[in-house]
Amino acid sequence: MGKFFKKSEKFPIIRYIEVIFMYPIIISGKFFTKKQRRFLRKNGFEWDGLDFVGYIDNDKKIRKLKYYCQQHKFRFKIRNSLGTRSSDYRRIFFIYHKPVIHSKYYLCAYCGRRLTKDKVTVDHLYPVGKAANSLKYQKKLTKKGVKNINDPGNLVAACKACNARKGMKTGLWIFRGKIGRYKTLWYIRWVLRLFLFALICYLLWKHHIISDILDTFSRFF
Ligand SMILES: [Zn+2]
Repeated sequence: MGKFFKKSEKFPIIRYIEVIFMYPIIISGKFFTKKQRRFLRKNGFEWDGLDFVGYIDNDKKIRKLKYYCQQHKFRFKIRNSLGTRSSDYRRIFFIYHKPVIHSKYYLCAYCGRRLTKDKVTVDHLYPVGKAANSLKYQKKLTKKGVKNINDPGNLVAACKACNARKGMKTGLWIFRGKIGRYKTLWYIRWVLRLFLFALICYLLWKHHIISDILDTFSRFF
């Protein structure tokens, strides 16, 4: 019996379990010297014709390799459904999300600006860049129930400026993006802003501040 269990290739399920608990890492660079290739091979990486690929299961090893890659100017990425930007996420977004105003305009999830389809930049609410670099962040996402970073639920419409400002930020930006997806909430915010503006105008008028300012001006001119 023992003889069989040692050879995991006879039990594909065991190999499968091994693989799903390991994180596939991809290291790319313009050129690898003989020494660098030897180092990566020693750490279990293999050359696939384009990059070095391998599997890692713990944070300590990841930190060590990330540091190594930084020192040698290689790109380090965790390649799985949480760490890889799909090539067609923009197309996916437009399939699942229809324009919210007059079947023509989308709203920027961060500032509420109206955008036509060609002006929309699709943003990943939970940033891919961060997930691709950190096992810890991937674990956090898994806890939150995010299985695929390119899931339509993780995609929002954003204007170019907001998308650039958001970048890899999380925290409050995620919250803003989440509530920014609802048209009604934007209407409520706009009404509140208008109300606040009216209130300030009323207070200025009531306390004769506007007439005081005008009086001051009239003295000079
Ligand atoms: Zn915006």
